[in-house]
Amino acid sequence: MLKGIAASAGIAVAKVYKLEVPVLDIVKKDCADSEAEIAKFNDALEVTKSDIEGIKERATAAGKLSVEEIAVFDAHLMMAGDPEFGGQIISMITNDKVNAEFAAECVANTTVAMFESMDNDYFRERAADVKDVTFRLKANIMGAIIPDLGAINENSIIVAHDLTPSDTAQLNEYAKGFVTSIGGRTSHSAIMARSLEIPAVVGCSGILEEANHNNVIAMDAITGDVVLNPTQEQIAEFEAKKVTFLAEKEALKVLKDAPSVSTDGHHVELAGNIGTPADVEGVVNNGGEGVGLYRTEFLYMNSQEFPTEEEQFVAYKAVLEGMNGKKVVVRTLDIGGDKILPYFTFPEEMNPFLGYRAIRLCLDRTDIFRTQLRALCRASVFGKLCIMFPMIATIKEFCDAKAIFEDEKVKLIAEGIAVDANIEIGMMVEIPAAAVLADQFAKHADFFSIGTNDLIQYSMAADRMSEKVAYLYQPYNPSILRLIKMTIDGAHKEGKWAGMCGEMAGEPDAVAILLGLGLDEFSMSATSILGARKVINSLSKKEMELAAEKCLSFDTAEEVQAYIKKVIAK
Ligand code: PEP
Ligand code: MG
Repeated sequence: MLKGIAASAGIAVAKVYKLEVPVLDIVKKDCADSEAEIAKFNDALEVTKSDIEGIKERATAAGKLSVEEIAVFDAHLMMAGDPEFGGQIISMITNDKVNAEFAAECVANTTVAMFESMDNDYFRERAADVKDVTFRLKANIMGAIIPDLGAINENSIIVAHDLTPSDTAQLNEYAKGFVTSIGGRTSHSAIMARSLEIPAVVGCSGILEEANHNNVIAMDAITGDVVLNPTQEQIAEFEAKKVTFLAEKEALKVLKDAPSVSTDGHHVELAGNIGTPADVEGVVNNGGEGVGLYRTEFLYMNSQEFPTEEEQFVAYKAVLEGMNGKKVVVRTLDIGGDKILPYFTFPEEMNPFLGYRAIRLCLDRTDIFRTQLRALCRASVFGKLCIMFPMIATIKEFCDAKAIFEDEKVKLIAEGIAVDANIEIGMMVEIPAAAVLADQFAKHADFFSIGTNDLIQYSMAADRMSEKVAYLYQPYNPSILRLIKMTIDGAHKEGKWAGMCGEMAGEPDAVAILLGLGLDEFSMSATSILGARKVINSLSKKEMELAAEKCLSFDTAEEVQAYIKKVIAK
């Protein structure tokens, strides 16, 4: 039994799919039986070709790659089928009496060296193809598995060091959950798992060493428990828990169209966080009253180059239309930290989470920023759009970003393009400096959305990706509650609204405190909305105001949690 951090609720039992690029230890062996080695090589070559065909077919069907990118697979197929290349490997096996993988490695190394020495970009790129194809070929000779998430075709639980957001995006219906050895509740793989509604346990150290491909694994992503090779009895226990979990989820559905009102008549807004237009469906089905955070960076991350204004316009319009006139808060590009782009080189930095990212990057690369703002302005007429800027630290950053927005808006109108006159411009409060100065920021911004994932990371100086310091992710720490209070009070002083889109907004105990602190909008993973509504419906705002005041006076997060649990249970 291993223990990790429950990051996306659910329970699953399935086979392990280990996402680990194999390290091929190739040593020269004397092999008198050349026939057997040649047969091994020929079989592996056939498997290699069909692997590449399969990858090409799936990539074509998914429609995400351009014609040129698909053509790379044809180059790989040609290379694998090249009689000259195969002939050299067979000759070496026969003449030198060596093992197939060693012969493949030697021939590949010579070919790569030849291509790399050529004074021609085309041939230098072919060197990369040879490396790619022969790595697959050697792995197939040795019976090692090269992971390919998109190819999973039986129920599996993915076990990995970490999943990048683009790994997560490749998961298909056979992925029943994932367990990673690093990460915390607010790492982006965890957030993606919640929108995909698949169970996830992160920060489960030891899992990669202990689990082997095809082992059976049982995971409880409510408690964070993971059992490798469970007994029949344990499997039955997990299955029973799963039934209860699904029944509870089903029971909450009666609240789908219920108002989010406290027992003393105070209304708040419960909205959903999304990463792609496809996530809108989940928000609507879970009774979301709006989208409180559209993380647009996934549009950039799932692309091979910067998405065009038109591509972005299509995505933003789809979200606004999908929400049917309900409020949609779109966050401008928040790239950097753990969110990188394959086609953009970030500077080498010691602390990328504290570096060139989000609004800092956008204010530097205004070409990228302006394209996004134009697309947003054009889409604004299809619904109720709010735009917010991420990682704002200073009032100047906010005002500069807003000025660029105004500039693009004026230009579009001059071009005769309709732009909604009532777009609200707000900001994420996720850097302590912004929370402390919220009353001043509120003179400029139309609204705040508190990003507790980063606000806690920066306040506690604890990397949100590190399981070693995950204990410092303390939404209930009175210091964090005070920063939240400052932000809400700052907004209200200027007649502005304050929301929260960090993961804290969906935690039932936190919902109670936030109601008392006066939060106006709660935005969370779609699957948390109904649970939050149940909490709001059962509490009195007046009583929670007193309880929240008390919470601010405690010394520790534990005291706050113990106290609020008692209050809610009454
Ligand atoms: C946050 O920081 O709380 C937030 C919502 O943004 P992200 O998780 O995308 O950094
Ligand atoms: Mg953030």
